[in-house]
Amino acid sequence: MAEMKSGRIVEWRRLSHSLSLFRVVSHDGARFPPYEAGQYIALRRDDCLLTRKIKDGDRIRYVPDLDAEGQQKRGPVTHSYSISSAPFETAQGNYLEFYVVLEQGQDGVLGRFTESLFRGVESQQNDRLAYVERIVGDFTLAKRAAGFEQVLMVGTGTGLAPFVSMVKQLHRDAIGGKAPPARYTLFHANRTHEELAYHQELLDIEESQAFDFVYVPSVSRPSTRDLADPQIGTGRASNLLRQLFGFPSKVSRADGNAVRKRRLVKRACYIPDIDAVPARTGASRGGDARRPQLRHGWRRRHPPAAGREGMGVLRARRLPDR
Ligand SMILES: Cc1cc2nc3c(=O)[nH]c(=O)nc-3n(C[C@H](O)[C@H](O)[C@H](O)COP(=O)(O)OP(=O)(O)OC[C@H]3O[C@@H](n4cnc5c(N)ncnc54)[C@H](O)[C@@H]3O)c2cc1C
Repeated sequence: MAEMKSGRIVEWRRLSHSLSLFRVVSHDGARFPPYEAGQYIALRRDDCLLTRKIKDGDRIRYVPDLDAEGQQKRGPVTHSYSISSAPFETAQGNYLEFYVVLEQGQDGVLGRFTESLFRGVESQQNDRLAYVERIVGDFTLAKRAAGFEQVLMVGTGTGLAPFVSMVKQLHRDAIGGKAPPARYTLFHANRTHEELAYHQELLDIEESQAFDFVYVPSVSRPSTRDLADPQIGTGRASNLLRQLFGFPSKVSRADGNAVRKRRLVKRACYIPDIDAVPARTGASRGGDARRPQLRHGWRRRHPPAAGREGMGVLRARRLPDR
């Protein structure tokens, strides 16, 4: 059985009230096991506020587990987390990076592990955690996308974590002369611009043109600045995908007002992103060889029914409660 190792949280970077990036280093400087982009590891915190299950008729709820004095019990909780650092970053810096959301249940009860994680880290009073010295998982390009010409990655919320690891590693490999075998598109959706983790890094990777990669960020709660920003699309990932595959948008069906309907559909679709990419790559709209591929090629050559013949859609979804 894999050993538990002691680690420390470093470089905690909060993106919003409920989202954060952080790194883990081993306590004794031990190397982390090798891994592939897309894999995950189990992390443990020891001072988690524990909950207990209660049955309310058909409904199951988790409520604070109190001791005889009415204090919430504390104890260890272990959960899995996707690694958002790329394997080459871990090899160089001997850290693992994570992208986490503070879990909040329907009754407002905070998640056991993540409440502990978000508590006290910034003051460095609560930076210890343990990890299982084993990195596993088959959500990897080799296992999920071997042989595909086109790989579409859809990462919402912290579901971006495995994809950002893959994209950083592909970029690194491309720079090192190992050309990635496919064309990659990443849809990245979150609520706000600030919550688009790794946004600039992904823009930079796209801009480098080291390999065939298109990055399509989108926010569901755009600010005025976002609406004016040609690099940010608006709308949820589900609507971007519906538009891409020619399915009707849920937003448009639900809305009775025709004018508002048209505006929402336009915002929710990928058109703003399509316009944005040539602007930021400096390519002219007609001259960007990659763009028509995104706009027309998939729909014509790879309709959804043809599914897995030429393109893989990898989806990882983990959104904070709205
Ligand atoms: C492979 C994998 C990768 C993951 N990667 C990420 C990642 O990159 N980033 C990320 O933020 N999350 C990730 N997760 C989710 C993560 O593992 C945790 O589930 C999440 O952080 C919530 O943990 P928590 O302890 O804060 O919440 P919990 O306290 O576990 O609450 C979560 C839910 O579990 C139930 N629950 C509450 N108390 C109990 C109890 N006592 N017993 C049983 N169930 C209970 C409730 O339904 C609650 O809504 C990943 C999960 C998997 C499986």
